[in-house]
Amino acid sequence: MPQVGKGYGILRVGRVLGRARQKSSEMTIRESVNETLMSTTDMRGIGMDFRLSPELEALQRRVRDFISEQVIPLENDPRQTAHGPTEALRDELIAKARAAGLLTPHADVEMGGLGLSHVEKAVVFEEAGYSTLGPTALNIHAPDEGNIHLLSIVASPQQKLRWLQPLVDGRTRSCFAMTEPPPGAGADPSMLMTTAVRDGDDYVINGTKWFITGAKGATFVIIMAKMEDGTATMFLSDMNRPEIEHVRTMDALDTCFTGGHAVLRFNNLRVPANDVLGEVGKGFRYAQVRLAPARLTHCMRWLGQARRAHDLALEHARQRQSFGRVLGEHEGVSFMLADNEMDLLTSRLHIWRTAWLLDQGERCNFESSIAKVVCSEAQWRVVDRSVQILGGQGVTHETIAARIFADMRAFRIYDGPSEVHRFSLGKKILAEVKKEGGR
Ligand SMILES: Cc1cc2nc3c(=O)[nH]c(=O)nc-3n(C[C@H](O)[C@H](O)[C@H](O)COP(=O)(O)OP(=O)(O)OC[C@H]3O[C@@H](n4cnc5c(N)ncnc54)[C@H](O)[C@@H]3O)c2cc1C
Repeated sequence: MPQVGKGYGILRVGRVLGRARQKSSEMTIRESVNETLMSTTDMRGIGMDFRLSPELEALQRRVRDFISEQVIPLENDPRQTAHGPTEALRDELIAKARAAGLLTPHADVEMGGLGLSHVEKAVVFEEAGYSTLGPTALNIHAPDEGNIHLLSIVASPQQKLRWLQPLVDGRTRSCFAMTEPPPGAGADPSMLMTTAVRDGDDYVINGTKWFITGAKGATFVIIMAKMEDGTATMFLSDMNRPEIEHVRTMDALDTCFTGGHAVLRFNNLRVPANDVLGEVGKGFRYAQVRLAPARLTHCMRWLGQARRAHDLALEHARQRQSFGRVLGEHEGVSFMLADNEMDLLTSRLHIWRTAWLLDQGERCNFESSIAKVVCSEAQWRVVDRSVQILGGQGVTHETIAARIFADMRAFRIYDGPSEVHRFSLGKKILAEVKKEGGR
């Protein structure tokens, strides 16, 4: 497992690079730096160690093989529609992952998962993300992945049995309903307008939500609603209730989520007090419990997709000729390839570090905001450059790059637009400076 230490990082990397330059001329520079980076931990027993454990390396290889042999061949299946893979295609993919022992790997072992840590997820989810269908196959796509995490922490034993276990088994899907049309909650969740009013042993919920990913075909929904005292609460409800109106499925750029994105209306939806998720009034706190890791898992999956687009571009740059040489030998193209490598590595480092902090039990709201902005923007640049290198093919469905391009655009908007993360990071940085009396 990669381990990233606090403290001496920059200093140590500088020294390590110095030593790496003296290594055998038979090694590539990358091999030499890697080898030296790895050996320093043994010598000093402190600092950074980016090695994967043999077990994690083996799991990474299994996922990589599974994706290339069983998932990528289905990418152009006719059951891949404008509103995501159909339920039938999803079921087939889930069955394959189950047979391969790779289904829902982030869930607790007692529930049938592999109990992956955040760092282990970083490695596995990146591999799964290499195919547009990989996250669906492994049952690690949004919103189910984030909902599994939230329910594992907050749900009661009865709620886990009723809603979480079938979700982990891949037998059901779920959705998460927070965003509302203007003037309701969007980038600013405090503008919540959906209401929950206590009535006897029940709560009665009214309001409209939109962009609800996976709602059509989902078995249950987690609803965020405003209480009479202005706080927010999360409620669990089955989706097959007559008081839940599926107003429409929204046509969107992305096509990777089963069920697409829906507009839902709750018309006097009656939810028993037993189906409150966690405690009344703690909705915003639970949203943070869900969001910090969920943001990071988006970064992991999209990193796999960015790497895929880059690999396609690289292959093209190695083979395609123009003006008497292969594309990659033109400086304009080689610079784009180099920038891609830098953006991919930057993303991976942010993901691994934030995942490691989460594994240490830190809340990581600040770090996961940074990682989300860095990754969503860096990965987008990678895919955009890859499309450019692929030329005309890049904007057709002759390769998967165009689909990745379309699927990825929303990543800079959901789970907090880049501007909102910068705005909130800026506020925290200013407050810190004030506390410390200036830097
Ligand atoms: C593909 C997709 C899937 C989604 N899935 C779900 C889901 O399953 N469940 C769910 O509840 N929601 C979901 N969402 C909604 C998503 O979380 C919201 O779109 C997001 O929070 C932004 O809200 P908004 O669209 O209302 O944008 P608005 O609130 O209208 O903001 C528009 C833009 O204004 C700018 N902006 C806003 N505030 C600031 C600020 N303080 N400083 C600078 N600029 C600012 C940003 O550029 C922002 O993009 C999904 C969205 C998409 C696109």
